Amino acid sequence: MEITFTGKRALVTGAGKGIGRATALALARCGAQVTAVTRAKNDLDSLVQGCPSIKPVCVDLSDWDATEHALKGVGPVDLLVNNAGCAKLQPFLEITQDQFDMSFNVNVKAALHVAQIVAIGMKTRGTGGSIVNVSSQASQCAFADHAVYCATKGALDMLTKVMALELGPFQIRVNSVNPTVVMTEMGKKGWSDPVKAKSMTSRIPLGKFAEVEDVVNSILFLLSDKSAMTNGAILPIDGGFLAC
Ligand code: NDP
Repeated sequence: MEITFTGKRALVTGAGKGIGRATALALARCGAQVTAVTRAKNDLDSLVQGCPSIKPVCVDLSDWDATEHALKGVGPVDLLVNNAGCAKLQPFLEITQDQFDMSFNVNVKAALHVAQIVAIGMKTRGTGGSIVNVSSQASQCAFADHAVYCATKGALDMLTKVMALELGPFQIRVNSVNPTVVMTEMGKKGWSDPVKAKSMTSRIPLGKFAEVEDVVNSILFLLSDKSAMTNGAILPIDGGFLAC
């Protein structure tokens, strides 16, 4: 199955590293005009060096006003990947207000805000579009020290469904991908300890973590017309973890 995005304009958040970076590059390879949004300028510089067609936008997405300002000039967007996320792992009894607010600001509020900005344009132009929110298996399963992260991803799943409901009539589809552990910088922070890693892989029927490409391929599918009738779906990329 060949997927092309020639003539499409895509915006990817958290495109500096990991899943977001690989998604931005894959979209560009498939012919999309890509805007990459993240907060570390050096990540954007190296991304554009490797793929000069990518348009960089440097902003801290936890800042609502700065995001509004930064995205004002990006122009029409047909495909959005709300990928930026943070995972601060803490025992429940030690969670602070700051950590809670930061996690919800990035993982939920920024996703809502960026999608609003993009979807208003899609609705006005009447062209439809596709939005993919990068959630997690942690939206549906409890993990120790993940109370805030699990709560943000649970909220993101419901946001996906309500967006699908409200934006569907404008032919804007909204879906999420929900990966198991992927060994990006974020994944390594939580799962580098082999004993901890084994405790997770032993619960995954396929017996392994996901690769970045596994997630990217599902994102591309959901962005593309190959999934034209899929809306409001929460797609596990977890080797069967959530099925058991
Ligand atoms: P990485 O930490 O490797 O990359 C995250 C990217 O998002 C970085 O470029 C980061 O920038 C950027 N980002 C984070 N906060 C902000 C912010 N406030 N403003 C702008 N950019 C920001 O993570 P992954 O690639 O692993 O994760 C991508 C998504 O996948 C996340 O939503 C995550 O929750 C989800 N996910 C990840 C899993 C995993 O095991 N890795 C499993 C399931 C879901 P900077 O480096 O400057 O912070």
